[in-house]
Amino acid sequence: MYPFTTIRDYQTCLIQHQTSCKQAVLFYLKQIEEWKHLNALVHLFADEAMARAEQLDAERTAGKKTGKLHGVVFTIKDVLAYQQHPVSAASPILKGFHSIYNSTVVERLLQEGAIIIGTNNCDEFAMGSSNENSAYGAVKNQLDETRVPGGSSGGSAVAVQAQLCMVSLGSDTGGSVRQPADFCGIVGMKPSYGRISRHGLIAYGSSFDQVGILANNAADVALVLSVIAGADEFDSTVSSLPVPDYAEELNVQTNSKPVLGYFKQTLEHEGLDEEIRSAHKDFIKKCKADGYEVKELDFSLIDYIVPAYYVLTTAEASSNLSRYDGVRYGPQFTPVKEELTEFYSANRSQGFGKEVQRRIMLGTFVLSSGYYDAYYTKAQQVRRKLFEQIKLVFNDIDVLLMPVSPTTAFKIGEKKNNPVEMYLADIYTVFANLTGIPAVSIPLFRHSNGLPFGLQLMTKHFDELSLLRLSKEWMNCYKAV
Ligand code: GLN
Repeated sequence: MYPFTTIRDYQTCLIQHQTSCKQAVLFYLKQIEEWKHLNALVHLFADEAMARAEQLDAERTAGKKTGKLHGVVFTIKDVLAYQQHPVSAASPILKGFHSIYNSTVVERLLQEGAIIIGTNNCDEFAMGSSNENSAYGAVKNQLDETRVPGGSSGGSAVAVQAQLCMVSLGSDTGGSVRQPADFCGIVGMKPSYGRISRHGLIAYGSSFDQVGILANNAADVALVLSVIAGADEFDSTVSSLPVPDYAEELNVQTNSKPVLGYFKQTLEHEGLDEEIRSAHKDFIKKCKADGYEVKELDFSLIDYIVPAYYVLTTAEASSNLSRYDGVRYGPQFTPVKEELTEFYSANRSQGFGKEVQRRIMLGTFVLSSGYYDAYYTKAQQVRRKLFEQIKLVFNDIDVLLMPVSPTTAFKIGEKKNNPVEMYLADIYTVFANLTGIPAVSIPLFRHSNGLPFGLQLMTKHFDELSLLRLSKEWMNCYKAV
């Protein structure tokens, strides 16, 4: 990160006149230019970021009160509405579209003095695990440019990894913040469903989607979360539970060690890379040796979670994406036709990429009469069972440990033509979205192939603080990368 390890250090240096917001922006603009070929950003707001930095510098030096995110340089995934700025969900169907309002998260960042330097590439409508399904082309992993950065928030992860910003906001419907964080060696958090407003987040699967945070360390995640979390009159699914000052609370010493647990079946799974398996097993041993109680739990539903996730999210997506019809948003690909359905069909066939079309069709199919009960109802029943299971799990333990992905970052093109293989790799991340619990990926490990991989921590609804505390502690004492 730009000369400092945490946002707090940076802000201390600002106050002590050792640096300025302008210097920070100049540094990131240089980085963005140098790493342009990674394709992590789709729009750059260079002049605007410079002007805002100068304004923030002037306000600070004039003694004005500074916001919690004063001078912090952000990028945001191309699915978050930013007033009068382009937002396209990396899709041709929204090419040239500009948002007329701010998403709640963007509004809150700006109110606290953040600088938004650009928007990030991602998979189209956040559908994907590799950032290859983008109208702007694939994103490259900085650690090995022949490999994917993960997805769908791949551009956001690379922006943090390659120091193109301090923090990035992504979205996580089935792992899209945690898996790219895992592939890029950074921290990625998906908070509880209902912790952060979805107002102004382009919808994929509304009962799953959450805004997530990608950063270099737990303290930065905590600070950003304390700003963007909390009730919002524009999103009735946000909880009205008070928002702790996560950043402050992170420094409070607690002596009790959480009870840890893991699902036996997750570590035994045949798809899991041998080295990732043994790193997790060794880690559990180390925890026991360090005095943690660790429980092995049974999870017989493991093979149902990916199918349930894909049935339910595609069903929701087929409904959410019906609004893109060539009339209301973005460009028209075809002249108006006599027959309206022909017009819609022509626009949607040209405006949506292959993966998005596949999911709309799958979602429409599972919702169609005759198949609804066999697929949609069944998947809802699986989800209900998972909710019941999660209650029992967190009666027994405090924190659930899991890998993030079965492999490290794979080669660009390697899985592109095999959607089922790509979907199955979501096995460890979709659980938190199906149940709505918070989860974080922290970069603790390195594979013999040289690539990083993370440990995933999950806990009960709205206990983000426990995850952040443990993440901070473990990144200090167990980080091997
Ligand atoms: N890889 C998952 C999918 O393709 C997750 C996507 C996401 O979280 N947005 O659906």
